[in-house]
Amino acid sequence: MLGPVILAASRSATMRRIVSAAPVTRPVVNRFIPGETVDQVIPIVESLTRDGLEVTLDVVGEDITRAEQSYAARDAYLQLIERLAELGLGESAEMSVKLSMFGQALEGGHELALANVRPVVEAAAAIGTTVTLDAEDHTTLDSMFAIHEELRRDFPQTGCVIQAYLFRTEADARRLAAAGSRVRIVKGAYKEPAEVAYLDKAEIDKAYVRIMKILMRGEGYPMIGSHDPRLIAIGQELAREAGRKPDEYEFQMLYGIRSEEHLRLAAEGHRMRVYTAYGTDWYGYFMRRLAEKPANLLFFLRSMITK
Ligand code: FAD
Repeated sequence: MLGPVILAASRSATMRRIVSAAPVTRPVVNRFIPGETVDQVIPIVESLTRDGLEVTLDVVGEDITRAEQSYAARDAYLQLIERLAELGLGESAEMSVKLSMFGQALEGGHELALANVRPVVEAAAAIGTTVTLDAEDHTTLDSMFAIHEELRRDFPQTGCVIQAYLFRTEADARRLAAAGSRVRIVKGAYKEPAEVAYLDKAEIDKAYVRIMKILMRGEGYPMIGSHDPRLIAIGQELAREAGRKPDEYEFQMLYGIRSEEHLRLAAEGHRMRVYTAYGTDWYGYFMRRLAEKPANLLFFLRSMITK
């Protein structure tokens, strides 16, 4: 029952102030968000790459209130891409972006987010990599899919994320499972109402399997985003059944979660990508990680008490 409470707190400005200012927070945050700057995250990318893993980089931030912040977000990604190019890391690192950080929720936000994300997608393509649009809460998705479709006209390799907990997602998966598309399937990390989403864990898992079947049997490139061993095993079986070669799908997990499993899957010959978030505005991302596993919250609270 703690999960929904933590998710509600992830949108609270007061909680943001308290958690962000607590002196013990940073070491706990580090487990999931291993740096605040490009210079701090690059060695992580190099180390993951040396281990045979691929990376998707997320500059943390969301729910901005001013257009200037959206330009800063765009520029942060452009700076990142420039550094990756300098270091020859363009092939193994792609980018994940949240459109809310690019201004999607502001007035005229759909156009603003599109105008901000386009140069990022363009710069990524120029160094041989790509961008995936993360899925945020359900009210943002029509705009996200429209931006995805628009970007794919010029950059067909642009990916997007779909969330198994939403009723709409099976239909989205059918539409997206076409040649050339890149689709990440995840369970879903936001607080959603019963009118639009399954709330029961078993129902979400069943939907996840139905959607993996659509993606694996379709013509696109499925990206299985999960740490759930049962779903990963089913994903492997579905890839085998569909006759997919190792470079025709991939698994993805978050930095700091089940890291030994990242290495095991890569050693088995699967393409394995680690979603690595960095930056200073880590509050929303961090709180979603706590909500996914309330034991993380206990660890966090214990570190505050024992400090
Ligand atoms: P769960 O059943 O939640 O977890 C399975 C097991 O993994 C747990 O038993 C536990 O051992 C471990 N585990 C899972 N989460 C944690 C944690 N936080 N801390 C410690 N252990 C944990 N969601 C979105 O809504 N939009 C997105 O764009 C999005 N992008 C994602 C990208 C990637 C690569 C991944 C892996 C997830 C993404 N998510 C996104 C989050 C996702 O929706 C889930 O909330 C998250 O992956 C947990 O679900 P799970 O499939 O791992 O299964």
